[in-house]
Amino acid sequence: MGAEFVREVKPGEAVLINQNGINSIYQKEKNDFLGTCVFEHIYFARPDSKINGTLLYKNRMAMGSELAKEFPVEADMVIGVPDSATAAAVGYSQESGIPFGEGLVKNRYVGRTFIIPDQILRDAGVRWKLNLLSELIEGKKIVVVDDSIVRGTTTPHVVNLLKKGGAKEIHFRICAPPIISPCHFGVDMATKSELLAANMDIEEIRQFIGADSLGYLSHDGLIKAVNSSRDNLCLGCFTGNYPIPVQLEMDKLILETES
Ligand code: SF4
Repeated sequence: MGAEFVREVKPGEAVLINQNGINSIYQKEKNDFLGTCVFEHIYFARPDSKINGTLLYKNRMAMGSELAKEFPVEADMVIGVPDSATAAAVGYSQESGIPFGEGLVKNRYVGRTFIIPDQILRDAGVRWKLNLLSELIEGKKIVVVDDSIVRGTTTPHVVNLLKKGGAKEIHFRICAPPIISPCHFGVDMATKSELLAANMDIEEIRQFIGADSLGYLSHDGLIKAVNSSRDNLCLGCFTGNYPIPVQLEMDKLILETES
């Protein structure tokens, strides 16, 4: 837009721009509690965004670097699931010394599959979403870095694609902890019964996706990578503890399904 960055909007603040100028109004008394969605750091925000003055691309590289410390493995190449995990894959590569490469390319005409409301459409969307550069991965031990596993729709497909392309071993690394609880603050992720990590342990998930090994970044590793304190973040979907009281879980399609 060419706009000049002034500062971030504060907790509980709305900025009103009208004929009287630029003024802040506050919903309640001012407070300094942030409760920043940590998923913004992991996935939602653009990599060129800054949160609390830090470039997200660098935070994502740091997530990959922490992941390499927590889950090292012998491999020939590190790839990211495009595009959101690329920075974390670069970080994993730099920390581990395993070369970074591209093994998957994204079909830019397919959107985010995890918010498609129907499982059949989600499965089809995943098949159209990624293509393989098989000549680059054939016969190699591959570390695959991704940002999250939500329902487990995409990940088994990625493993399958890499296996068909001739990858010798596939080591999946997730630059976030397991998602065990839904979001109550507007991220239409999934219900608890749909979340893979809410219903399986890590070994069961590894078998389900078909990888040779699987590692998730720890809570402490994530907090270190985003350079914040636990008190200033929302980690609700990773811990089940939310920064404010939340409503009981409701199905987003309840009005469509109830007769
Ligand atoms: S529950 Fe998860 S997705 Fe929702 S605001 Fe908190 S960290 Fe973000």
